[in-house]
Amino acid sequence: MSLDTEFGGKSCHTTVPPIDQDQHAEDQPARAEAFPDRTNDADVGPPAQAEQPPRTDGASERQYPRPMLTMTPDELDQWLQARGEPRYRLRQVLHWIYQQPVESFEQMSDIPKSLRRDLHRAFRLWTTRVLERQQAEDGTEKLLLRLMDGETVECVLLRDDRGHRTACISTQVGCAMGCAFCASGLGGFKRNLAAYEILEQLLHLRRLLPPKERLTHIVVMGMGEPLANLKNLLAALEVATSPSGLGISGRRVTISTVGIPPAIDRLAETGKPYHLAISLHAPTDELRSRLVPSNQHTGIKAIMNAADRYFAKTGRRVTLEYVLIAGVNDRLEHAVALAELVKNRTAFVNVIAYNPVPELPYRSPSPARVQRFVDKLREAGVNARIRFRKGVSIEAGCGQLRRRFLAAKVQDNGARGKAQNGNSLGQVAAAPCDRPNGQDRPTDTAGQSPSA
Ligand code: SAH
Repeated sequence: MSLDTEFGGKSCHTTVPPIDQDQHAEDQPARAEAFPDRTNDADVGPPAQAEQPPRTDGASERQYPRPMLTMTPDELDQWLQARGEPRYRLRQVLHWIYQQPVESFEQMSDIPKSLRRDLHRAFRLWTTRVLERQQAEDGTEKLLLRLMDGETVECVLLRDDRGHRTACISTQVGCAMGCAFCASGLGGFKRNLAAYEILEQLLHLRRLLPPKERLTHIVVMGMGEPLANLKNLLAALEVATSPSGLGISGRRVTISTVGIPPAIDRLAETGKPYHLAISLHAPTDELRSRLVPSNQHTGIKAIMNAADRYFAKTGRRVTLEYVLIAGVNDRLEHAVALAELVKNRTAFVNVIAYNPVPELPYRSPSPARVQRFVDKLREAGVNARIRFRKGVSIEAGCGQLRRRFLAAKVQDNGARGKAQNGNSLGQVAAAPCDRPNGQDRPTDTAGQSPSA
């Protein structure tokens, strides 16, 4: 197998129209008739002006209908019960939200019209809209979503020939971790995503699949540090893994972190079977602190101890991610030091070639060098494999599509009146995700997938 093909496989840079915009346009007249009280207020799509994200405590309900996804299935059940709806109504509504997400309440075709109208008055079905949709030849699709306050986040759908349909999702707008090589943190940290904003990413990605298919895996490897927004992430995953929600097995959820020991412990305490991936990227504190600044306060030892506790508590083998950056962390002595760290542990190492980010000086090592690094690890008895990226052409680095978008916006504002053909976005794309561990292609039969 040629690594060149794997890393640089052909794919296209198509930017296709966002699905919801088109459908929404067609939907307008019917909506106006059915919902005369809020005719200009789409369930899908932001208001013309940026506005504050709605509060989830109900205090701003008069101004902004409550986001539908702030309601757990149980709460929705109570709401329907209070209206005297039959028991089966909950299943019907949940179907249109999670299994076959529709664009508006009006499209919930087996729900009585009066109930659809009441739902529309009480709730906002979508708070995010698709600004950009990009597709690679291998089927990987990436969405840039606009949030209610005008911020943007990325999410990605990965497909493979085993039928895995993996959603890669973001947990924050921007990132505070400031990893030296990563595009996500270049613009700094903006805010945490609410649970409903995390869930909506999954639903937008679900909408890219035909009705017969479903999302099978989740990797929390998009923008942001998931463990710095653990509460909201856990709330979103609760629904994503619930049979009333998206019904995705908890064992098929991978959470990737820079390594925050107290949060790793909290995650372990939940008793959930989520798979933990730690972005190690360097075998010594000196080097890691340069690449992952949060390491200065934490240190590799404390992180590895937390990983050990996670394994002891959950029985789930922790994956260590190691992004190989040419001339930085890719020498054989790094492999030897890494092997030393991993030995006597039930961990697994994923070696990933760096995806260059144009604004940053880092480069990817040659495929031969990547192979040499992994061979060295294996010689030392480490369970390691090279992880290949999907959708390479739309995946230059974490958060990069968002950066292009913001740059294009600034340019656009500066040159108001000039024709804007969207090329600045159409030519470049970046997806933050790799395949989940279960979707990796081992370079030999020694590599066992740690995921379900
Ligand atoms: N904050 C989380 C999630 C970040 S994105 C974490 O650090 O794990 C998921 C993975 O992509 C991380 O391992 C991150 O270090 C890696 N990554 C970021 N930019 C990359 C790039 N340009 N090339 C390869 N991997 C990258």
